[in-house]
This record gives sequence, C-alpha cells and structure tokens, in this order.
Amino acid sequence: MFQLTLWSIPPLMAALVTVSAYLHARNLQDVPGVSAFRLLLAAVLLWCGAEFLDSIITNFDNKALVAQIKLCAIVVTPVAWFAFALTFASGRAKAPNAALNVVSIIPLISIGMIMTNPWHHLVWSDIWLADAKGYITLLSTHGPWFMIHAGYSYLLIFVASTVLTFSLYQSGQNWRPISAVVLAPLVVAAGNTYSISSLNATPWFDLSSLSFAIAMLLMDKGLLRSGLLDSHPVIRDRVVEQLREGVVVIKPNGTIIDINGAALQILNANREDIPSKPITDYVQSVPLTNLNSRQRNNVELTLNQRAYDVTSSKLDPTSNDSDIVFVFRDVTERREAQARLQQLKIELEEMAHTDALTGLQNRRLFISRLGEEAERVRRHGSTLSVLIFDLDHFKQINDTYGHDAGDEVLKSVSAVAMEIKRITDVAARVGGEEFAILLPETDAQGAWHLASRLREGIEKSKTFAADSHRIQVTASVGVATVTRDSDNIENILKLADNALYQAKHAGRNQVRASSVS
Ligand code: GH3
Ligand code: MG
Ligand code: MG
Repeated sequence: MFQLTLWSIPPLMAALVTVSAYLHARNLQDVPGVSAFRLLLAAVLLWCGAEFLDSIITNFDNKALVAQIKLCAIVVTPVAWFAFALTFASGRAKAPNAALNVVSIIPLISIGMIMTNPWHHLVWSDIWLADAKGYITLLSTHGPWFMIHAGYSYLLIFVASTVLTFSLYQSGQNWRPISAVVLAPLVVAAGNTYSISSLNATPWFDLSSLSFAIAMLLMDKGLLRSGLLDSHPVIRDRVVEQLREGVVVIKPNGTIIDINGAALQILNANREDIPSKPITDYVQSVPLTNLNSRQRNNVELTLNQRAYDVTSSKLDPTSNDSDIVFVFRDVTERREAQARLQQLKIELEEMAHTDALTGLQNRRLFISRLGEEAERVRRHGSTLSVLIFDLDHFKQINDTYGHDAGDEVLKSVSAVAMEIKRITDVAARVGGEEFAILLPETDAQGAWHLASRLREGIEKSKTFAADSHRIQVTASVGVATVTRDSDNIENILKLADNALYQAKHAGRNQVRASSVS
C-alpha cells in the first residue's frame, strides 16, 4: 500500500519551501499582483503535495487519481504566473478580466480533458505501474493534448516573464528581482523538459518538483524578501489616483504622459485617448512656458463652467527639459462664495446710505457728498446749489388719513424728486418729512428752475388714501447756491434752510432762494 523511499524527499522539500513563501506572501496586503502570486504558490503547493503523495502510495487507481490532480495544478501554474505578471506590471490590484478569460480558455479545456482522459486518452494515451528497483511508480505515454498543454504553458510563462522583466527593468529595479523572475521559470522549464524528455535517467521520477523547489526559493529571496512587492511607488500611485485634485504630468513638448482619474474628469477626457496627446488639446491656456527652475506657477482657468486653480512645477527643478506636473484644484465653490460675499458687501454699503422707506439716500450720505462737493467748489471754482423741501402741514395728513397713508405720500414725493433730478444730483431724505437735493455744477437760476418744477410736481402728485380719496400735498422749497467767492460755502445747508423758513412764512407751497447767494 505505502512505500518509504528517498524519492519522497525532493517533493517534500519543494512543498516546504512553497509553504514558507506562501506564509511570507500572506502578510502582503493591497499589493498589485499579490493575489495572483498567492494563487501561483497554492497551485505549486498542490503540485508538490500531489507529487509527494504519489511517491508514497503504490495502488494504481490512487496513483492515477493523484496524477490527475497533479496535472490540474500544473495547468493552473502558468496562468497564475501570467496573471501575476500582468497585475504587477500594470500596478493595479486586479488583472484585466478580459485578458485573463482569454488566456484561461485552453487551461480550462485541459482540466476537462484530464478529468475525462479514460474516455479519450488524449492526455495520456497509456499509463501503467512500473517497479523501478523497488520503487513503485506510474509511467505514462503522453497523448496529443498533453503536448498542446505543455506548449501553451511554456508560451504563457515566456510572455509573463518577458512582461515582468521589462516592467521591473523600466521601474529601475536592481538585478536581484529581475534575475529572480527570469531564472525561476527557466529552472522550472528546464526541469520539466528534462523530466518528459527521453534523456531522463530516472524516468520513474518527475524531477520538476525539485526544480520547483529551487524556483520558489528564487522567488522568495528575489521578489518577496527584497520587499519589491510592498514597494512604495505603487502605493503612491494609488494615492495620486484617488486625489480629488487633478494631476497631469506632461513632457516639455506638452505631451501627456500620466494623468489621474480626477484630471480625466476635469479635462473631460478618456484614458484611452490620452497617450501621446498634447495637453493643449484639452486646455488651451496652461502655462507651458516661463517655468523657471524651482518656481511654481499658478493660473486660474475656467473649464466646463468650473474654476480651477492650476499649479505647474517641474518634476526635476534642476533640469531644463524636465517633465512638468500640473495640479488642478477646483475652486468654484470658493469663488462663488467670494462673489456672494462681495455682492453682500455692496448691498450692505447700499443699505448703510439708503433710506429704507423711500429708497432715497439718507442724511449721512447727503452730508458726506455735500462736503465733497463744497470742497470741489473751493478747489475748482465750480457752482453748487442745494434744495431743501419740507411737506406742508404733514401732521394734518397723518392725522386725517393715518400714518400708513402718510408713508405713501412720502414715497410719492420721493418719486417726484427722483424723476425731476438729474443723474448727477443727489436726492436724500434728511428728516421725517424733510428732503434735500444736492445739485453739483448748478447755478442759482438752474436751481430755482428745478425747485419750481419740483414744487409743481409735488402739488400734482397723486397719492390715494385707503378710501380712494386723493391726498393733496404741497411742499415749501428753499434754495441756496454758492461759488468759490462765497464766504460761507460750508453753511450752504443753513442758507437753504433759511430760504425754506421764508417759504413757509410766505404761506407755504412756495420756492424761496437764499438772499445771500
Ligand atoms: P409745516 O407745514 O410747518 O411743516 O407743518 P408740519 O405738520 O409738516 O410740521 P411738523 O414738524 O409739525 O410735523 C411733521 C410731521 O411729520 C410730524 C410727524 O408725525 C410726521 N412724520 C415724520 N416722519 C414721518 C414718517 O416717516 N411717516 C409719517 N407718516 N409721518 C411722519
Ligand atoms: Mg418738518
Ligand atoms: Mg412739514
């Protein structure tokens, strides 16, 4: 039933080495290719385990079953190696599914063929037990499908190793991992080829498990223990990929060589279209020139109705033809908030010098503008006039029609003032029912004329009480005018007030001008 021979030692050693490598690989997390690498080790372990089992059992049926299992593990191995190469080289967590599906077609057929071999004998055309100097072994002649499987496996391993070597070489790795990924499959292939060839001096023993022990040792020392699989550039790549900021790296001639997901969205671009396209195909106004060494350049761009702050800097500040990295930061919300704040500020300023009821300027603004205009008269010798008007018997209006109706009258009167005044004039409500209009560059005659029109306008204005009764309102107007020669420029308001007083005294609904001017 069982046999104990020295031939069990090589597969046992191979299995132990693989277990040790597996334990090592188990600690690696989130590393590109690591799951495929674990699958590779698992397949090799199954292979060596089956080999070991085969070496200690002697029953034909059991041996045939173990041989089937072993060959299935052998079929999976190159696929796992290929998947590892692909994921590692592309720096992604998983290999592209489409590629793996295609590559797995022949191995899947192989597994089906192995399992159904007794019916078609395409994998093994014949298997029989042999006694080699006391060692009971299973010998076989290979059928045509075995050759297809073998050829295909060599092809996969060749392609995978080439991809891996190239990718390691490109990322500037030293000789250790590179020689590991080149030598490991070579050792396996050599062992395997020798085993199935006619040169094999020990045809009862499959040498390939020994070659696998060596290959796994190489991988463990060269790849795993060199820390290559947990290398940081890969992690940094992922961080860049997940950034909210768009990152684009270009050559000095503008060709895009790397771009993260956020930048693809910002530029509204497809990753497939990107290679070798100039960045100016997507953004016209990036600052490609004037990139002084060590200096970062900032510009603000609008792309697809969003505002971006774009920083550009050289990857190697000491080089003249260094690649350039652009970082796009979305500042749309910040800009919108700034605009809202600005608008609010304008509105607040407006409110600070506007009368709430009538919408005219308030007393504070009027006094400030009056000061400015008086100064202009002094400096430039212009002429300045001021009108002050006060509604006649307004208390009575309030008493008769109510305070709200009184408010409506104040608004109507304000509208008349706004209509009559010129753009450069400043109309203000300076007291309860007292108003003033500042008339820059206006002489006494012009002011008088405007005052008269104002008085008439107010008299004709139509405000209606709640009972549709028209409220009749009049105003008395005082006018004052000053020039550079006047010796009381700052008293112009007082002068106008005196004139208003005279108008009231003369019976109201009148215009009076300051006698001094
Ligand atoms: P005069 O012709 O001498 O100017 O008589 P008057 O009644 O207009 O003068 P007086 O100063 O005695 O009364 C002013 C009135 O204006 C008193 C106040 O109730 C009213 N008034 C002041 N501010 C407002 C306001 O904002 N709304 C209303 N409805 N009335 C106001
Ligand atoms: Mg008054
Ligand atoms: Mg009044």
